[in-house]
Amino acid sequence: LTYLYQDRFVSKEELQISPEDRGYYFGDGVYEVFRVYHGRLYEAAAHFERWEKSAAALRIPLPLPSGELTGRLEELIRINGLSEGTVYMQVTRGAAPRSHPFPADTKPILMAYTTEARRPLNTMKEGISAVTMEDIRWLRCDLKTLNLLPNVLAKQHAVDQGAGDVILHRNGTVTECSASNIMIVKDGAVITHPANHLILHGITRAVVLRLAQGLGLSVRETPFTLKELRAADEVFITGTTVEVTPVISVDGVPVADGRPGEITRRLQNEFEKTISF
Ligand code: PLP
Repeated sequence: LTYLYQDRFVSKEELQISPEDRGYYFGDGVYEVFRVYHGRLYEAAAHFERWEKSAAALRIPLPLPSGELTGRLEELIRINGLSEGTVYMQVTRGAAPRSHPFPADTKPILMAYTTEARRPLNTMKEGISAVTMEDIRWLRCDLKTLNLLPNVLAKQHAVDQGAGDVILHRNGTVTECSASNIMIVKDGAVITHPANHLILHGITRAVVLRLAQGLGLSVRETPFTLKELRAADEVFITGTTVEVTPVISVDGVPVADGRPGEITRRLQNEFEKTISF
C-alpha cells in the first residue's frame, strides 16, 4: 500500500512521523475522508472546500494547493488500484517541542492513504439501532479537526449498548451522530439541524438535501428535539461511509413501525443515481 506523504508517494515504512508532531500531542490538525466509487473521488470539490475552511480556521498553511492535491489523490488511487473504498487525508501543524502556542517555524505534515471498503448495503437495507447521548463537544463542530475524543467516547457508548450508532443532543436538541448527520421525516417534511457551528457540514447531508428538494419534498434546516425525534415518521443518518442509512430504533423504542421509511427509501434510490457514473 502506497501513502502520500507531503507531495511524495512512499511506503508505510518510509513514512516517518516525529513523536513531537502536534497532531500526536494536541490533535492539532484537520482531516477529510473521501468516498471512492469506481476508482473516482466522490464530491471532491466539496471535500476540498471544507478541508481548506478547516485548515484556515486553525491557521494551518496547506503544503499543497487543492488543485494539485486532487491530482495526487487520483494518482494514489491509481497506484493502489482502488476501485471501491475511501481516501483518508490529514494535515497537522507539524513537529515542535511541546508547547501550546504555534511554533514559529513549523512545517505542516500531510499524509493520505486509501482503504478498500464495500458500501454498507446490509445496514442500508435493514437499518440500524441508535442510542442517545449528551453532545459534550466544543463549539466548533463545523471544523473537521483531529480532536475526536468526544466522538470516540460517544461511538463506544453505542458499541457498549449493542447499538449501531449514537445520536447526540445538546440539552435535548438533536445535533448529529458520532460520524454522520441525522435527519427526521415528519408529515412528509425532511428536517435536519442547520449547518452552523454545532455540527459538521456533511457533504452527504448537502447532497441528500438537494435530492430531497429535487423530489419536491419540503426541507427544513431547523433544530429538532429528542421528543420530536421519538415522534418522527422516519429517521435516517447521512455520511460518506454510511451514505443514507435508516435508523429503526432509538434507545430501544422502534421508530414508527420499526422499518425503514418510504421517503428514506426514495432518497436512497436518488443517492444511488449520483454514484453510478
Ligand atoms: N458528522 C460528523 C461528526 C462526521 O465525522 C461526519 C463524517 O465523517 C459527518 C457528520 C458526515 O459528513 P460527510 O457526509 O461529509 O461524510
